[in-house]
Amino acid sequence: MKFYSTNNPSLKVSLRQAVTEGLAPDNGLYMPERIPVLSKDFLDKLNQKTFHEIAFEVAEKFTDEDIPAAELKRIIQHTIQFDAPVVPIERDVYALELFHGPTLAFKDFGARFMSQLLGFFANQQDKEIVILVATSGDTGSAVANGFLDVPGTKVVVLYPSGKVSEIQEKQFTTLGHNITALEINGNFDDCQRLVKQAFLDRKLTSRIFLTSANSINIARLIPQSFYYFYAYSRLTAGSRPVIFSVPSGNFGNLTGGLIAKRMGLPIYKFIASTNINDVFPQYLASRRFTPRTSLQTISNAMDVGNPSNFARILDLFNGDFDTIAREIMGYAFSDEETKSAMRDIYSRFQYVMDPHGAVAYLGLKKFMKENDVNGIGVFVETAHPAKFKEVVDRTLKTEITIPPKLEKFLGREKTTIPLSADYEEFSAILSRNF
Ligand SMILES: *Cc1c(COP(=O)(O)O)cnc(C)c1O
Repeated sequence: MKFYSTNNPSLKVSLRQAVTEGLAPDNGLYMPERIPVLSKDFLDKLNQKTFHEIAFEVAEKFTDEDIPAAELKRIIQHTIQFDAPVVPIERDVYALELFHGPTLAFKDFGARFMSQLLGFFANQQDKEIVILVATSGDTGSAVANGFLDVPGTKVVVLYPSGKVSEIQEKQFTTLGHNITALEINGNFDDCQRLVKQAFLDRKLTSRIFLTSANSINIARLIPQSFYYFYAYSRLTAGSRPVIFSVPSGNFGNLTGGLIAKRMGLPIYKFIASTNINDVFPQYLASRRFTPRTSLQTISNAMDVGNPSNFARILDLFNGDFDTIAREIMGYAFSDEETKSAMRDIYSRFQYVMDPHGAVAYLGLKKFMKENDVNGIGVFVETAHPAKFKEVVDRTLKTEITIPPKLEKFLGREKTTIPLSADYEEFSAILSRNF
């Protein structure tokens, strides 16, 4: 399988090049040259297969030319060392819990798969790989922990100062070793802009082997299809339509779902659920995509004003608005609505949702209320509630316990390099340190 840039479909590169470059040289995002369709036999027997077997079958279609099957098996086993259960919540509503990985958020899937791929590719060259990652919270921790002590790699995390929770911050500012944290005086979009600019800076890239670990990297996207197949296989939907509601920021998770559907998984509809950073729902309502500065919310991993995977969604549908609007519904919710959903589900079912999952729950319920499809709904729970303990406890009047995996970070001292949002300052730091 080859990969092309969304800005130039005729220029094709190997998986290795797509993964090590991250962003294409023309600033486009890499896409697989075609979306492979899985055999009917495989799809019919999904429920007899393990998560590892499913992930292998899906991944192999994309990696066949670059990664030997035995190596891919090892990579999958290393990536998925935790379950992704579908938990029944109320009648016809399930939570797909993607937070059972080491940093308790769904980004562990993408980050761990990518670190394994890069480790494999770094092994075949002599130059160290420097991974730049802009984070609004969870990406930084998943990537930093995924790459910790992976030989031949160094990670630089950029995050907006004061705009991530303490637990999130501690997970990527206390690791040391091959992980450096830059604390940017700005918002998430500034961090993302700095990273993008570094890739276009020839002076820098001629000296340092830079790559990105944001959701723009194709190695992050591929594993985000696995769990849609797995979740679907564990529901007993029969012929009833299955709807997935995905709490969205940069839209990597939802794009993974769209790819799963294109590969043959019969998902009826996707719901793009957002907080008030509703650029995508606005696009569906108005046909116009208008990026804007992000606003801070309690579901801060979705505080994104210019969703980077929008280019991929357009590409998947050849820019055809009507098809996009048929496949994906978009709804946005305020913090107040989010908190009241958290309270409602907690009081009725004693289930603790984190704010991101709660936004997805709201989107699912809204769709089901407005559309009488007799479907089975799955809302994607992207983070363990303890990652947002302050807001969860304040909202539910609880004292939820912090799992040991998270607890261990809290007692550690953070080490960061504070920086302005100015590119010159950022590039100077990179030149000096790497
Ligand atoms: C990153 C993240 C999201 C948003 O995912 P995208 O792929 O960027 O749309 C949602 N919830 C949590 C907890 C996250 O960390």
